[in-house]
Amino acid sequence: MENLYNYTKAALQEKLVTAGFKPFNARQVYEWLYKKKVTDFDKMSNLSNRLRDYLKNTMVLPELKLFTRQEAKDGTVKYLFALEDDALIEAVLMRHAYGKSLCVTTQVGCNIGCSFCASGLKKKDRDLTTAEMVQQLLSVETLEDIKVSHVVLMGTGEPFDNYDNCMAFIDVINDPHGLEIGARHITVSTSGIVPKIYDFASRDKQVNLAISLHAHDNTTRTRLMPINKVYPIEELLKSIQHYIDKTNRRVTFEYLLLGGINDTEEDADKLAKKLKGINCYVNLIPYNPVNEFDYKASPIKTQHAFYKRLINHNIQATLRQEKGADIDAACGQLRVKKES
Ligand code: SAH
Ligand code: SF4
Repeated sequence: MENLYNYTKAALQEKLVTAGFKPFNARQVYEWLYKKKVTDFDKMSNLSNRLRDYLKNTMVLPELKLFTRQEAKDGTVKYLFALEDDALIEAVLMRHAYGKSLCVTTQVGCNIGCSFCASGLKKKDRDLTTAEMVQQLLSVETLEDIKVSHVVLMGTGEPFDNYDNCMAFIDVINDPHGLEIGARHITVSTSGIVPKIYDFASRDKQVNLAISLHAHDNTTRTRLMPINKVYPIEELLKSIQHYIDKTNRRVTFEYLLLGGINDTEEDADKLAKKLKGINCYVNLIPYNPVNEFDYKASPIKTQHAFYKRLINHNIQATLRQEKGADIDAACGQLRVKKES
C-alpha cells in the first residue's frame, strides 16, 4: 500500500492513466483530499466504483499522531507529532496580521550541525516523506479548524538535503485543485547547499528562497556553519546571483545576531559591502538561546544599530520579531523533548 499524500497531481494522473483511468480523475481525487479533506474513499461520491476500489486496494491516507500541543502567550502553537515509525517531529503555527503560517519540519534531525542550533544537536535519522510534510499541514488545519495561508520550510532539517521530497511537497500544497497555498506564500530556507540552489533556480515556481548567511566572512561562517567549508561564501553568492538572474526574484538572507560574534557596526558595513548589487533583503534574527551552547543574543541596542547601519547602506532589512520563545518554539529551538 502507498501513502496517497505522497503524490503530486501530475504523478497521480500518470499513475491513474496507466491503470486505465482518465486524466481528470486525478483532479477529482485531489479535490476530495485537499478541498473537502475526505479520507474515506467510499465517501468520494463522484468517483466510479472501479476507481474507488482501485484506491482502496492500493492507497492509504494515514493521519499523524498528535503527541502534545503547546500554546504560547502570543498564540504561537507548537505540535509534537509521532510518525508511523514512532519518530517524533515538531511543527509550529504562527499567527500574524497577514495570516497564519506553518513552520514545517523536513527531516528527523539534521546533519548540517550548525554550532548554534538545537535541531542540529541530533544527527539526521531520516528524511521526511512528502506525505509526512503534507500531513503536518493537514493535521494543523484540522486540529485548529483553520486555513493556513503561509508555509515556511524552516523546522528541523535542511530542505535541500531532502530536495526531491521537499519540491514534491511544494507542488502538492501549491496545486490549485488542492490546498492552493500561493507560491509566493511558500518559503524554503537553506543553509546554502550550492548545487541545489542551481537546481532550484531552474524550477519555474515563484517560491521564496531564504539563505542562512549569518556571517560576512568565511572564518566566522565556518565556525558557525561547518557547511561553509564545502560551499564558501563566494560560491554561495555566485549561485544566488545565478538564481536571481534566472528567476528575477529577490532573495532573503537570514542573519543571526550573535552577541560579540557578528554584530558590530563594522560587521554591518562589511555585510552591506558583500551584498551590494544583489537583489535581496536581510532578515535579522535575534538569537534564541540554547542551553547547550554559549552563544548569547545581541543586546537590543546593538540589534537596532546593526539594522540602521544596513538601512543607511541602502540594504533593505527587517528585524524579526520572535514568536513562541516561552514554549521553545522559536527559530532554532526545535528539538524533540519528550518526557518518558
Ligand atoms: N536548515 C535550514 C532551515 C531550518 S533552520 C536553514 O538552516 O536555513 C531555520 C532558521 O533558523 C535558519 O536561518 C537558522 O539559522 C535559524 N536558527 C537556527 N538556530 C537558531 C537560534 N537558536 N536562534 C535563532 N535562529 C536560529
Ligand atoms: Fe540544520 Fe538549519 Fe539547524 Fe543548521 S540551522 S543545524 S541547517 S536546521
